[in-house]
Amino acid sequence: MGDTYRMFLDMVSGSRYIVAFTGAGVSAESGIPTFRDKGGLWERFRPEELASVEGFMRDPVKVWRWYIWRMRTIYSSEPNYAHLALALLERKGRLRSIITQNIDGLHTKAGSRRVIEIHGSIWRVRCARCAYRSEIKEVPNESELPPTCPECGYMLRPDVVWFGEPLDNMKWSMAVKEATRSDLFMVIGTSGAVYPAAELPYIARNSGSRIIVIDPNPTAFDDIADLRIWSRASEFFRGIWRDLESLPPLDPA
Ligand code: NAD
Ligand code: ZN
Repeated sequence: MGDTYRMFLDMVSGSRYIVAFTGAGVSAESGIPTFRDKGGLWERFRPEELASVEGFMRDPVKVWRWYIWRMRTIYSSEPNYAHLALALLERKGRLRSIITQNIDGLHTKAGSRRVIEIHGSIWRVRCARCAYRSEIKEVPNESELPPTCPECGYMLRPDVVWFGEPLDNMKWSMAVKEATRSDLFMVIGTSGAVYPAAELPYIARNSGSRIIVIDPNPTAFDDIADLRIWSRASEFFRGIWRDLESLPPLDPA
C-alpha cells in the first residue's frame, strides 16, 4: 500500500483541477447499500418495479415505501473518510468539484460545496404532473402515501432520475464541462453500468485528464486508469488522511 499512497499523493500534488466522480460505493461504508454488489438493493428488489416511471404509476405507494425505507437508512448515516477527504481537498483548493450519482446528500453533509448531483436527491420531491419542486426535511408520513402536490393535488414523487429518464440538462452539461476541464479525474465506487454517467471518465480521459479508480471490485474503467486502487474508499482515505491534511493549499491560478 505504501507505493500506492505515494503515487496517489504525487498525482494529487501535481494537479491543478481535480474532479471526483462518485457512485454508491463511496457511501457503502456509511451503511448505505449499493445496488449491484452482493447484499445490494437490487438483490431483493426489481429495479424496473421501483425506480421507473412505469413502476411508480403502477404502484406509487410501494415505490414511496421503498424510498422512505431508504431515507431512514440515509438519515441516520454519517459521511465516512472518503466523503471527508474530498471535502478536505476542496478546502485546500485542489479539488474543484464532485460529480455524484448518489442521491444521499452525504458529500454535502461532509462539507463539500461544489457537488453536482446528476441523479437528483432523495431530500427533494417534485410533482409528477406540474412544475412544483421542493426540498424536504422530514420523511413523508407513511399513513398518507403518496404525498400530494400543494399546487395541483396530484402525486409527488422523489426528485431523482429513474431508469429510462433523461438527466437534467443543466447538471449534465456542468458535469461534462468539469470532466473536460479536469487534469485529474478520480473515480470512486462506481461500477460504470449506468449511462450516460459512465461516459464521464472517458470524456475526462479524452480531454487529457489522468484517471484514478478506487474500487475493491472490477469496474468498467479499469482499462483507462493511470492508477488503480483496489481498496474500499473509506479505508484508503483513512490511511492517507494525515498526508492529505499536510498538503499545502493551492493558490488559485
Ligand atoms: P453500483 O451499485 O453499480 O456500483 C457500486 C460500486 O461500488 C461497485 O463497483 C462496487 O465494487 C463499489 N464498492 C462497493 N463497496 C465499496 C467501497 N467500500 N469503496 C469503494 N467502492 C465500493 O453503483 P453505481 O455505479 O453508483 O450505480 C447505481 C445507481 O444507483 C447510481 O445512480 C447510484 O448512485 C444509485 N445508488 C445510490 C445510492 C446512494 O445514494 N448512496 C445507493 C445505491 C444506488
Ligand atoms: Zn402539481
